[in-house]
Amino acid sequence: MKRQIRSAKLVLLALTEATSPYWRPIKYSLFPPLGLATLAAYFDERVDVTIVDEHVETIALDDTPDLVVIQVYITNASRAYRLADFYRGKGSYVALGGLHVTSLPDEAARHADSIFLGPGEFTFPQFLNDLAEGCAKTVYSSPIRTLDGLPPIRRDLIKRHLYLVPNSIVVSRGCPHHCNFCYKDGFFQGGRTYYTQRVDDALAEIARLPGRHLYFLDDHLFGNPRFARALFDGMRGMGRIFQGAATVDSILSSDLLERAVGAGLRSLFVDFESLSPTGLAQSQKRQNLGRDYRAVVRRLDDNGVMINGSFVFGFDGDDPSVFARTVDWAIDNGITTATFHILTPYPCTGLFAQMEAAGRIVSRDWDRYDTRTVIFEPRGMSAAELKKGYDWAYREFYRWRSIARASSAHESLKHRIKHFAYSAGWKKFEPAWNAVIRLQRLAHMRPFLEALLSPVCAVDDEPVAASHLSIRDFFPD
Ligand code: SF4
Repeated sequence: MKRQIRSAKLVLLALTEATSPYWRPIKYSLFPPLGLATLAAYFDERVDVTIVDEHVETIALDDTPDLVVIQVYITNASRAYRLADFYRGKGSYVALGGLHVTSLPDEAARHADSIFLGPGEFTFPQFLNDLAEGCAKTVYSSPIRTLDGLPPIRRDLIKRHLYLVPNSIVVSRGCPHHCNFCYKDGFFQGGRTYYTQRVDDALAEIARLPGRHLYFLDDHLFGNPRFARALFDGMRGMGRIFQGAATVDSILSSDLLERAVGAGLRSLFVDFESLSPTGLAQSQKRQNLGRDYRAVVRRLDDNGVMINGSFVFGFDGDDPSVFARTVDWAIDNGITTATFHILTPYPCTGLFAQMEAAGRIVSRDWDRYDTRTVIFEPRGMSAAELKKGYDWAYREFYRWRSIARASSAHESLKHRIKHFAYSAGWKKFEPAWNAVIRLQRLAHMRPFLEALLSPVCAVDDEPVAASHLSIRDFFPD
C-alpha cells in the first residue's frame, strides 16, 4: 500500500540509566541526537518532521504521525519497543534502527514495520522511496558505505537551547580497530567498517556551525591520518576550539596531535582502558599493547590538551587491587577527568560470544547493560567486589583532594588552574547544573566552558587569550 508521509517523528528515548536515582542530568544534556538530524535531511521539505529527545524533553503521546523512527540503544530498548508497539497500535508506520537493532534484529523486528541494520545514510532514503511506492521492506541493511553527497544535517530541528554542546559533529563512521568489547564490528558488518567524509564537506559543515566550540563525536578522530591532517590544516585559522577522541597509538605516532592543537584541539578522550597487558590482550586492543601511557600523557600535557581517560574494570586479569592502581595512576599523571566502566559484553560482540560460550553471562536484562552493573561472572574477584571497586574509583578520583593532586601534576600554573576548575566544575556542582538545566539556560554556560578551554601554551594561529572547554571530558559520570 502506498503511503503518503506528511508527518514524521524521530525519537531518542532516555537511556535507562538516565532515569535512575544516580542520573546526572547534565551528562544527558550535552549533545543533541545528531544521527536523527542526519536522517531528517532525507525527507521531502513538505513533510512535517520533528525530533524528540527524551533526555531533555517530555515526549507527547497524543499524536499519530504517519511515520515514527526510533533510535534504539541497549538500555532504552525495552521502552523503545513499548513505544513502537504503542504507535503501531495507533496506525503509524514504525521503523527502528541503531546499535541494538543491528545487534539483535529478530528481537527488534517484532516491534517494527521496518528495521535498519548498520548505518542508515544509504538505506534511509531508499526506505522513504519504497514507503511512498508501497513496497517498503521489513529489513534494510546497508552494503554501500559512503558519506559523499550527504544532504546538510537538519540542525534547524535541534533545540539548541536544551544542550550544552549543540555543535557536535561527526566527520567519519566507525573505526579502524577491532576491540572485542566494541559494537563497531557488529554494527558495520557487511561493508566498510571505517570511512570518512570528504575533507571539503567536513570543513563546509564546520563552517555552518555558529559559535566557536565544537565537539567531534567520531570514535577515532585521528583514525585516517591523511584525512585528519587535511581536516586540521583546513581548520587552521577558522578560530575554532574543539574536543574529540583518539587512540593512544595515534597520539604517539605522528604530528597529528600538533596539527590538531594548531586547529584548536583542547581536550581529548583517550581510551587507556587498562594498565595491564593482560586486559588489553583480552580485549584485543592491540593498538594499546606495548604503548607507553606516560609518554601519551606527557605529549598531550606538553601540548596543553586536557585528557578524559577511559578505563574498564573486570578483565580476567583484574583483581581487587586494580581499582587503587588505576585511580592512583590517573591522579598521579594528571588525567583531567576519568570515565570508568565495568566491562560489559554487549550482544553481537566477540566478548559476548566468548562469555556466552563459557556460560559466564548472568543477565540478559538489557536495561542492566549500562557499564555500571556487573552482568557476567568475573574471574579475579567477585561480582560484588567489582561493583564496589567501580563505585569507589569514581568517588576517589573526584574527591577534592584527588582533584587537587591531579591538578598539581602539570608544570604550568595555568594548566593546573584549568584542570582544577574543569574537573571540579564538572563533578562538584550538581545542584547548580540542575538549576541551569531546569531554567533552560545551558547556552549561558558555553562562554564559561570555552574560557576553561583557552590554550595552556601559545599555539600558532590561536589567540592565547581565547577560551576553551572540553566535552568528551563531559562523558564521565
Ligand atoms: S578503538 Fe574504540 S571505537 Fe575503535 S574498535 Fe576499539 S573501542 Fe571500538
